[in-house]
Amino acid sequence: MTDSDQNPEAARWHYHPQGPVALNPLFNWPPRPSAVLRWYGGAWLQITSLTLCMGLAATVYVLFFPGLETMKTFQPGWMFRIWLLNMMPQILVAGGLHWWLYMRKGQGMYKKFDRRNLTRDNGTFTFRNQVWDNIWWTLGSAMTVATIYQWGIYWAMANGYVPTVTWSAAPVWFVIWMSLIPMWSGLHFYWVHRLEHHPKLYKHVHAVHHRNVNIGPWSGISNHWFENLLYFTTYFIHLIVPSHPIHLLFHAYFQQVSPVLSHSGFEKLKAGETEAARAGDFFHQLHHRYFECNYGTSEIPFDKWFGTYHDGSAEATTRTRAYKKQMYT
Ligand SMILES: [Zn+2]
Ligand SMILES: [Zn+2]
Repeated sequence: MTDSDQNPEAARWHYHPQGPVALNPLFNWPPRPSAVLRWYGGAWLQITSLTLCMGLAATVYVLFFPGLETMKTFQPGWMFRIWLLNMMPQILVAGGLHWWLYMRKGQGMYKKFDRRNLTRDNGTFTFRNQVWDNIWWTLGSAMTVATIYQWGIYWAMANGYVPTVTWSAAPVWFVIWMSLIPMWSGLHFYWVHRLEHHPKLYKHVHAVHHRNVNIGPWSGISNHWFENLLYFTTYFIHLIVPSHPIHLLFHAYFQQVSPVLSHSGFEKLKAGETEAARAGDFFHQLHHRYFECNYGTSEIPFDKWFGTYHDGSAEATTRTRAYKKQMYT
């Protein structure tokens, strides 16, 4: 029997991961410690969006970050630099992946979820072109809002208006808070994203992100202005929870650069004949194809708890389509 006999959903994709889409086993009952270790090992011990963002934050902090003491007043020098520190990694990672996967076709169709190419000459998109549309909403809208929020938070940190920590004063908290940031981001994302799927907000705002049924690296944070105003409020946690600037740097890259990988459309990146890195996320790819499912991430299984989990099966597609119909009638 072939995979498509067992699961008719497989016929709808070029590549379809076997079995139900994985969720973080940390929330399973009874506890499965070895599965939890494998899950976190898979996220932190190879090239993934997490390790890439951590590496980026550390490198940027050591080499390019303007000291907090310079940020006590709003000055064009450091503000411009913060904008550049957002723009450059975004352009390098999204541009590099787009070039390698979609222009150079460096790994052909290997582990590409969708059969189709990205869309050209289609009036749904700004400039009638999916890639130019996505570049505009990412570098124009998302980078601007993200940068303005970061300016405010760094300025508040520099002036001691919010609680901060240093490595030497609280090394344990420093590490714990860093490792909790992805979980906070997932929690915040789920609720903001659910709100954006309210039919009114969807039609006027979130539809910009969902123009991309078939996604590519530049689709990651290709969002309407208003969506970005909500999406990047995740950074305001640093106004409450004692943080170091590098916590915000990591949070920023996790929020901005990791969606580039998760929207890349390919599950793995190949270097030569070996799989070098984890990239695309079938969990979210399903959200782009079927809309009213998988609003969160696989990190905290809110979708499972609230009945909107699409596990990649044909039954889940039928259920999601029925739910969507009922939402819009
Ligand atoms: Zn959505
Ligand atoms: Zn998306």
